[in-house]
Amino acid sequence: MSKEAIVIGLGISGCTAARLLADAGYSVTCFERESHIGGNLFEDIRPNGQRIQTCGPHIFHTDSEDVYTFLRRFGNFYPYTHRVLAEVSGVVVPVPLNFASLRALFGNKAPALQDKLISLFGENKRVSLSRLLSCGDTSLIGLGKYIHEHLQIPNINRKGEEALEACDDSYMYDTFVETSENDNYYPDKFQAMPILGFVPLLENMLSHKKITYQTDTDALARLSLVEETGSFLFDGIPFKGPVIYTPSLDLLFGCRYGRLPFRVSNISFEDIDQDYYLKSASLTNAENSACVRISESKYFTLIDTPGKTSICKEGAYSTAVSRQSEPFEPEITEKSLACYARYAALARKFSSLHLLGRLACYKNMSVSECITQVMTELSL
Ligand SMILES: Cc1cc2nc3c(=O)[nH]c(=O)nc-3n(C[C@H](O)[C@H](O)[C@H](O)COP(=O)(O)OP(=O)(O)OC[C@H]3O[C@@H](n4cnc5c(N)ncnc54)[C@H](O)[C@@H]3O)c2cc1C
Repeated sequence: MSKEAIVIGLGISGCTAARLLADAGYSVTCFERESHIGGNLFEDIRPNGQRIQTCGPHIFHTDSEDVYTFLRRFGNFYPYTHRVLAEVSGVVVPVPLNFASLRALFGNKAPALQDKLISLFGENKRVSLSRLLSCGDTSLIGLGKYIHEHLQIPNINRKGEEALEACDDSYMYDTFVETSENDNYYPDKFQAMPILGFVPLLENMLSHKKITYQTDTDALARLSLVEETGSFLFDGIPFKGPVIYTPSLDLLFGCRYGRLPFRVSNISFEDIDQDYYLKSASLTNAENSACVRISESKYFTLIDTPGKTSICKEGAYSTAVSRQSEPFEPEITEKSLACYARYAALARKFSSLHLLGRLACYKNMSVSECITQVMTELSL
C-alpha cells in the first residue's frame, strides 16, 4: 500500500515532520503559503552582506542530544554562546541577572542578596521570578519585584500590569537570576548556530526524493474537511494518509469560534557603518516601549563584514489586529485557551490529523521543543 502524507507549513516543525515521514518511506507533499520556506526562521541578506533573521533573532539551544544529532545531518554547526545585556534605568547589566549584575544595580546591598540566594537556592543555579517571589525572604521578594518592574518586558514576559509571574517562555531568560558570575543566556548543554544559516539547513532537510513542496500555496485552498466522517479531501479526492498541520488552528476551521489572538511586534533593521554596534548580541530595555530589544546578527553569524554591521530593533509587542501581521506569540489568557480548546476538540475528530508546532498547538515553543514534539508525535 502506498504511504502518502501531507505537510502544511514549512517552518522547523513542518520541515522536520516532512523529513521524518520521508525517511520512514512516506511520499510527502508539502505546502507553504509564503514564497519561501523557514517560517519564523526565515533569513535574508542585507546589502552590507550581513545575514539577518527577518522575524527576529533565533538562537539554537537544546539539552537533547537527539535533536542536535538530527539537525547536524543537514548542516554544520559552530559552538555559540549567547550573551544578553539589559539596560535598567541607565545601567547596563548581564541577564539573567548574575552576581555582577547585582553589584552593578545594588552596590553594597549586593553581597547580602548574593548570600541569601546561595543559602536558599544553592550556587550555580538559575532561579525563576516565580520562585523568587514565593521564597518567603523579604529581600529576595524585593529583588523579584524589582525584576518585575524593570526587567519584565511588557507583553513578552510580562503578562498584564498586575501579573507578577514571569511566563515560562522557553527562549526568554531575562527575568531569571543566576546564582553565580555566569553570563551565559541559555542554560542548555548544546548551544550552536548553523554555519550557513537556518534556511540552507531546512532546504537540505527537504532535499529527499520522496518530498515535494510548493511555496506560494495556501494549503487550505486544496484541502477540505469532511466533518461528518472526520476525513479529508485533497483536491476533491479522499486523502487517508497523515495530515501534518502547523499553521494556527482557528484557520483550519474557518475561524468559526473567533480568531485566536497572537502578539506581534514591529521589527525593523538598520545597517550601520561601524564594526560592532552593541557590546553583546542583544540589548533589552523593558522600560523603552519604542524598542524593547536590539540584536546584532554579526555576533551569531560567522559573516565578517569589517566596518559594517546590521541591527534588528523590536518595538513593543501588541495583540495582532489582523492576519496580515506575522503572528509571533500566542496571547495566552483564560479566554484564548478556552477558545483554543474548542478548536482542539474539533480537531480530535480527525484521526489522521497531527497538530504540530507553536501555532497549531498555541504554545510558546523553542526550536528544540518543536523538533522534539515532532519526533515524539510521529514516533516513526
Ligand atoms: C520573536 C521570537 C523569537 C524567538 N527566538 C527563539 C530563539 O532564540 N530560539 C528558539 O529556539 N526559539 C525561538 N523562538 C521560537 C521559534 O521561532 C519557534 O518555536 C519555531 O520557529 C516555530 O516553528 P513552527 O514551524 O512551529 O512555526 P512557524 O515557523 O511559524 O511555521 C509555520 C509555517 O506555516 C505557514 N503557513 C501558515 N498558513 C499556511 C497555509 N494556509 N498554507 C500553507 N502554509 C501556511 C507559515 O507561512 C509558516 O511558514 C522565537 C519566537 C519568536 C516569536
